[in-house]
Amino acid sequence: MKRSVPETAQTPITAATRYCAVYGQPIRHSASPPMQNAGFSALGLDWRYLAFEVPPAELSAAITGAKAMRFLGLNLTVPHKLLAVDLVDLLDDSAKEWGTVNTIRFEGHDGAGVLRPLAELSDGSAGPILARGFNTDAEAIVRSIREDLDLPLSGVRVLLLGAGGAGRTAALKLASAGVKSLHLVNRTPARAVEVAEAVTRRFPRVPVEVGYPTGPVELVLNATSVGLATGDGLPFDERQFSLSRAGAAYDMVYRQAETPFLRSARLAGCRVANGLGMLLYQGARALEIWSGREAPVAVMRDALKQAIYGGRSGPAYDGRLQLPGLASQPPAEPGVAS
Ligand code: NAP
Repeated sequence: MKRSVPETAQTPITAATRYCAVYGQPIRHSASPPMQNAGFSALGLDWRYLAFEVPPAELSAAITGAKAMRFLGLNLTVPHKLLAVDLVDLLDDSAKEWGTVNTIRFEGHDGAGVLRPLAELSDGSAGPILARGFNTDAEAIVRSIREDLDLPLSGVRVLLLGAGGAGRTAALKLASAGVKSLHLVNRTPARAVEVAEAVTRRFPRVPVEVGYPTGPVELVLNATSVGLATGDGLPFDERQFSLSRAGAAYDMVYRQAETPFLRSARLAGCRVANGLGMLLYQGARALEIWSGREAPVAVMRDALKQAIYGGRSGPAYDGRLQLPGLASQPPAEPGVAS
């Protein structure tokens, strides 16, 4: 059953249509356009969301071009999130706090000289357009864990696998959410040590250890890229940790609806969720930042599911607790976030 908002439900493109876009390299895999266009359509906005392959060396020119064409906003994905911090004119607190920008809102001055989002300035802007950078990724991680696993983060013990960009943000955000303890494991241990030090500097009250826990944990979080490719194994060493000691498992990977990690966790009796919700909530927040309206999350989730799992037999995986018909679904193509 096709559940995404059909193209015909959108208003036709006219000279009045406004634009947002995602920049990345590679970008062809991105599920953000169907998700955002479904959201725009559900809100009755005469907007379109596009995707552009932008090399890092041309990111600055591409942001300037979007300003010149009065785009309303941008999302940035791999490899632009760090680079963009130095390319925007203003940083929202979220970008200052997490040190990366995945969302830009373009702003201009109204007739009274007040800086406002371009979406609010239908008659055009006086003066230069400014780019304000936000981070919607960090909040999306904890929102997805809380809502999709029904797990309050305050007071829980966490084993976090991975210390790359997503692992680092997750470690800091989980510490800020008041977890009871953090164990960090990474293929390259020095990176886990560096993340542990960063957490301790900012959240000295949260106990952090590099290595596997000896006792139970309420959550195991996979923030490695293990599981992206068909044929991948588990992202942890089974001789050192057993999923029977975990209450819940979250995998940031979502292109494979059920990675070997999530399958093992489910069979071990854990509650499980994949990273679809994380992708959804960072996009929902971006839409809210651009439009000032509440995002139609259910419509956007359906559009994402359709874009990512739509062609498969059986009910589309929800990304959350229940795993209906999952065993009958073939594995997805490998891919990356956003
Ligand atoms: P990254 O910065 O490149 O980090 C990759 C991480 O995976 C590192 O910790 C790396 O360990 C580890 N890793 C890679 N190959 C491995 C292997 N064969 N065995 C063990 N560990 C391995 O990437 P990232 O941006 O943090 O993304 C990490 C994962 O999160 C990806 O799967 C990405 O798709 C996913 N993600 C999902 C969302 C979402 O919206 N759901 C958003 C962001 C990221 P080393 O340090 O040893 O290299």
